[in-house]
This record gives sequence, C-alpha cells and structure tokens, in this order.
Amino acid sequence: MRNAKSITFMFLALSLAWTNRIESQNGDRTADVRRALEDGGARNVLLFIGDGMGDSEITLARNYAVGAAGRLAMDSLPFTGEYTTYAVKEDAPEIPDYVTDSAASGTGWATGVKTSNGRISTSAKTDRNLKTILEIAQERGYRTGDITTAELTDATPAVLGAHVANRSCQGPSDMAACPQDRKSAGGLGSIAEQLIAHHVDVLLGGGASRFDQPTEGGPTVADAARIIGYQVVATASELEAAKAPVLGLFATGNMSLEWNGAEALPYPSNIANPQTCTESVRPANEPALAAMTTKAIALLDRPGTTAGFFLQVEGASIDKQSHAASPCTQIGETIAFDQAIRVGLEFARMHPRTLLIVTGDHGHAGQIVGMPNDTDHPSGLLSALRTKEGGTLVISYATNAYHRSQDHTGTEIRVAAMGPQAANVLGVINQTDLFSIMSRAIQEPVLFTEAR
Ligand code: MG
Ligand code: ZN
Repeated sequence: MRNAKSITFMFLALSLAWTNRIESQNGDRTADVRRALEDGGARNVLLFIGDGMGDSEITLARNYAVGAAGRLAMDSLPFTGEYTTYAVKEDAPEIPDYVTDSAASGTGWATGVKTSNGRISTSAKTDRNLKTILEIAQERGYRTGDITTAELTDATPAVLGAHVANRSCQGPSDMAACPQDRKSAGGLGSIAEQLIAHHVDVLLGGGASRFDQPTEGGPTVADAARIIGYQVVATASELEAAKAPVLGLFATGNMSLEWNGAEALPYPSNIANPQTCTESVRPANEPALAAMTTKAIALLDRPGTTAGFFLQVEGASIDKQSHAASPCTQIGETIAFDQAIRVGLEFARMHPRTLLIVTGDHGHAGQIVGMPNDTDHPSGLLSALRTKEGGTLVISYATNAYHRSQDHTGTEIRVAAMGPQAANVLGVINQTDLFSIMSRAIQEPVLFTEAR
C-alpha cells in the first residue's frame, strides 16, 4: 500500500521536475508530505554529492538555466533541510574549524565523525581509521559504486573507500604527507590502492595518472586491479560495454568540463556586455556524469536478488570551477550534476525502497549580487550573465584576491531526500547526521519485495 502511494507521489514529484515551470506550490501539500513519509530500511541508497554546492550555487544554476521560477530536478525532492558542515582542529578536535574542505566534510558524512581538514576517513589528532558507510554497506551485502567527475582519488570519492592521514596521498608515488600509510610501513597504501582493495564494484571518474603509478609490489595500481578481476575502461564507448567490477578512468586528471565561458574579473568586468555560456563542449569520448550514473545503476541493480546497492555520485567540478571564479563552467557542472540526479530520480520512482539523497559538502564563493555601478560595486571578481529567460545575473566571487583560488565558505547547506529515512533530513541537522540516516537505512532489514 505504502509502495503504491509512494509511486504515485514520485510520479507527481517527477512530473513537476520535468517541466521547467512549476505550476504552483502554494496549495496545501500536507497530504503529499504525509504520503512521502517512509521509515524502515532501504534496498538501495543513492547519494548525490555536489562538491561546493550550497544554496547559492544551486540558485545560480537555476536562474541561468531554467529561470528564477523554474525548478531543477534536485528541487523536486519531498524533504529538504539544511546541514552544518564545519570541520574540527587537528590539534584540538574539540574546537570547530568553521570552514571545511571536502576531505573533512566527506569524512563527516561518510563516517559520522568530524575530523580536521585534509584527512580521509581518519580521526583528527589520533589518526584512527574510521569505518565508512560504504564499508558497512559491503558488510550488509550491498553492492557498491563510487563515481565522480574529478579524479577517483580526490577527497570526495576517497572518503568512502580509503583511510589516509592526508588527501594528497592519492597514488603510490604521492605518499610524502602520509609516511605511516605506506604499505612498507604497515599501512593500507595510497587512496588508489585502497579503493581497489575494497573491491568497490563500480569505480568511474578521472585520475588515470594515479592508477598508472607503480605500487611498492611492482605492478601499477591499474594492473593490480586487473589482477583481482577489474575490467579497466577508458572511454565512453568502452564503458557502455563494461561489466562489473569495473574501473573507468576517463581522464588523466579531472574529467573535462561540460560548458565554457569567461572567468570573473575585477569591476567593471563584463557588466556592460553580459556573457552567454557555451554549452556542450565535453569531448564525446568522456561519458557525462548522467551516463556514468545510468551505467552504474545498471551494473549494480540486480532484480530478483535480495541485496541492493549503495552508490555515491559526485558532481566534483562545481567546486573546482568556483575556485577558478568561472561562472559558466561552474553552472555547466551543476546542470550536468542535476541531469545525473534526474537519472537517480527515474530509478527511485521505479524502485520505491530507494533512499535518494542530494546534498553538497560545503558552501562556496559565488554570490548573486545586484547590478554594480562606478560608485557601488563589490571589491572582488564579477561576471554578468545573460540568462535564458532574458535577465541579467551578476555573480561576485570575493573570498580571495584576483588570480588566487576562491575559498570555500562555512555556511550551512541544503540536504534533500526521498525514500526510507528521508524525513530525517528535515530542520537543521549536522553533516555527520547523514551518516546516521544512511546507516539506519541499510542496517534495517528490508523485507520489501520489489514490484516490477
Ligand atoms: Mg570532491
Ligand atoms: Zn574546493
């Protein structure tokens, strides 16, 4: 009964998401919310992390691409809350570090424990390995996937399947900051080696150069993966034909960007001539995040078996392009991330015992500001965009100097969800609470038999 209702609700939510213009949300939605409430366990968990995607970044993308009154796919989830994202100090973990990086924030949502900036699922000061939600899912018999548009060894995908003292320890030759984690020192090795050793069923992203490094034992990490059964693929067409377990490495570093455009500049920048972003510039041999998500779900979902899956999907370069004060590329990555979320929503609609979560890991620099003039204008970098609905959208990046990397911010950010346990995102929660929500969803027995 609950499932039939859920399907009805999902259909309504999705049909709203699929029209850019929301007809109206000012009716009484109490009954819809009540129908969307689900407790108990989840057969599948789909976790979407937009790196550096706070409320401001979502609003920028929405305004530009679908209009101020439009709605992105990610806007259609029935439950939305906010979470706090702070890290802690390495030498004094009882003291907050109010601005987190992706390593500490990822450790927070992946393990339920706050750590210091730079750490990958290890504890501040004491350097203990912290058990991750992916490890718990594996113990419970879930198949697992971890996909990103950054290097697979970058902080966000790393926190699920690796434990190192510093995020820079990505490949066997990158271990300078983590001597204790070297295999020869009795450690677990680099992030690349640990992701493989975890036997994650689906690993897709960039970062081939980390996997081409030789391990201390001799073969490269990629060859070590092949030895234990991974199929290693490098192009979109190879991915289409791939079977699990699969290691997809589609770029030497980060994957290519979806859009192009001019970076923000000091006033007067392009205020007199707003730019229009160039779309669809990603090379065809690299899969879109949505295509990686579709393939990952196809490989992980095995109808008729008792176990479901846990899949993390990261839109990584929202953050990286915000660091670069580049509004068009930042928005393009947000829209590509939203298209991946749409794939997840389609799956969740057909498979109601799916917990789907959309959130970010920290806020970022970009702010929507009013039209500047010679007297009144922000002191940082600016860019004006001509939106698709004909407006002028002015973005300010002012967390660092010109030609320096723009900084993360310490704001609370959106966390939205649907499916079992989703109501627990409501209100203001802590980033570490996301771990509790997901672990409760996968620890509870799932008695549900899928209706297909
Ligand atoms: Mg990241
Ligand atoms: Zn960043």
